[in-house]
Amino acid sequence: MSDRLIFFDTTLRDGEQVPGCQLNTIEKIEVARQLEQLGVDVIEAGFPASSPGDFNSVVEISKAVTWPVICALTRAVESDIDAAAQALQYARYKRIHTGIGTSDEHIRYKFNSTREEIIERAVAAVKYAVSKKVDEVEFYAEDAGRTDNEYLARVVDAAVKAGATIINIPDTTGYCLPDEYGAKIRYLMEHVDGLANGKAILSTHCHNDLGMATANTMSGVLNGARQVEVTVNGVGERAGNTSLEEIAMIIKCHHATIPLDFNIKTTRIYPTSRMVSSLMSMPVQFNKAIVGRNAFAHSSGIHQDGVLKNSQTYEIMDPKDVGLDDNNIVMTARSGRAALKHRLVSLGIKVDPKQLDRIYEAFLKLADKKKELNDDDILMLAGADTAAIKHVKLDSLQVTTGKGVTPIAAIRLNVAGEEFEAASTGNGPLDASIKALKQIIHRKMTLKEMTIQALSKGSDDVCKVHMQVENDGHLYYGFGSDTDIVTASVEAYIDCINKFKPQ
Ligand SMILES: [Zn+2]
Repeated sequence: MSDRLIFFDTTLRDGEQVPGCQLNTIEKIEVARQLEQLGVDVIEAGFPASSPGDFNSVVEISKAVTWPVICALTRAVESDIDAAAQALQYARYKRIHTGIGTSDEHIRYKFNSTREEIIERAVAAVKYAVSKKVDEVEFYAEDAGRTDNEYLARVVDAAVKAGATIINIPDTTGYCLPDEYGAKIRYLMEHVDGLANGKAILSTHCHNDLGMATANTMSGVLNGARQVEVTVNGVGERAGNTSLEEIAMIIKCHHATIPLDFNIKTTRIYPTSRMVSSLMSMPVQFNKAIVGRNAFAHSSGIHQDGVLKNSQTYEIMDPKDVGLDDNNIVMTARSGRAALKHRLVSLGIKVDPKQLDRIYEAFLKLADKKKELNDDDILMLAGADTAAIKHVKLDSLQVTTGKGVTPIAAIRLNVAGEEFEAASTGNGPLDASIKALKQIIHRKMTLKEMTIQALSKGSDDVCKVHMQVENDGHLYYGFGSDTDIVTASVEAYIDCINKFKPQ
C-alpha cells in the first residue's frame, strides 16, 4: 500500500459555504496561491454548475496555480460534469469529483429512487466524467457515514470499475464514531478488489458536528485511506470540516508510528491560517489546536519555568514547526533588518537580500504611520513586494474630500521613468483620483469589482484593497495596501494596469 498521504484541500469549496464568509474570485486566487505554497496536493476550487461566480473561480484558480491538481465538484448529472470539464480547461492537472447520495435516507427522500438505480446513476456519472479526458475522476458516496457497509462496497466497486481512481467516503452529517468510521474504511479496503490491488484509493471527508472530524479522519487513515479532505482552520458549514493543520501535525508528531509521507510544508501553516481567517472574516478560536492564539501559550508559572528550561517539558511540538515563533514579538520602527528577516523566515517567507532591502524600507515607512506592526502587517508587506517590477508607479497623491466639498485629486505618476501629473474632480476621492490617473494613462479600463478590508484593528490599521479592472475584454486582478484607503485603492488600480497586456 502507498505510504503517501494526499492532502485534498476544500477550503475554497466546502469550507467556503459558511454563510457570510464567502470569498470573491480575487480572494480565492490569493488563498489558492497560498495553498500551493503550503504544499497541498489537490485544491477543490468550486462547484462550477452551481453559479457563474463559482464557474469563474474554478477558471481563474486553474490559471493562477501550477502544481496542485485542480478539482471541480459535480452532482451525478451530465450538465454538471460538462460545466466542470469546461471550467477546468486551463488547469495543468484536472480532476472531476462526481457522486451521489448512497444512504437509505438520501435514496428515498432526496432521489425517490432505489439502491440498484443509484448504482446505475453512479456508474453513468463516473463513465461520463472519464469521457471528458480529465487526469483523474474522484467519486463520492454522499452520506456514506450512514450507508450500510455491504451496499457501500457494491457502490464503490462499481465506481472503481467505471474508472474512478479516488473514492471519497464522506461522513456528511458528522455522526460516525471513530471506531465505526475506521471499520467502514477497513471493510471497503478488504471487500473491494480495486482498493486492495491499489487501482483506486479511499479518501476521508469528515464533518465536525460532534467534534470528531479529526478523530474520524485519523481513524480512516489508520485503516487504509490515503487521501484526506480538509480545510484550513477547519472552516466549513455548521461545525466545519476536518482541520488541515491538525492532520498534518498529527502525522508529523506521530511519524514513528504512522510513517506516512506528505507534502505539507508545516512552517507555512500559521501564515495560511491567518490569511484564511482574515479573508473569510472568521476568527480562529483562541484555544484551537495548532493555530489558536493560546495553542502554544503557557500561562501557569510552573509551566513557563519548565518551558524556559527545556521546551520539551510541556510542549509536544516546536511552535516553529507550524511557522509560529514562540516569542511572538510585536515589531516597531526600532526593530532592525535582522529582526525583520527573522520574522519573515518564521512566517515561512524566504527573501533574498535585495527583497529584504525593499521590504525593510516599506516596513520603516509603515512603522512611521502605525506604531506596532504585527504578523499580518509583515505578511502584507512581503506580499506587496512580489510584484516588484512596475512600469507604472504612484509617486504622490493629494486628495481633498469630505462633506460639503467637491472631492479633488492631484496625482503624480512615474511611467517608465518619466514623471506625469494630472488633477481632476469626482463624486468621491477615488473617482477623482482615477479620473486624474486616466488623464495620464490612456487605456480603456473599467473598475469591475473592489473590496476594502482592514488587516487587524484600530483606526490606524493598514487597509488592503482587492480590485478587478477590465481592459480589452480581459480581467486583471490587483492588490494595494496602505494606511490611507484612497492610496491603497489607487495602488490596487495601478497594480492592475501593470498587468495589462502590451498594446
Ligand atoms: Zn462536506
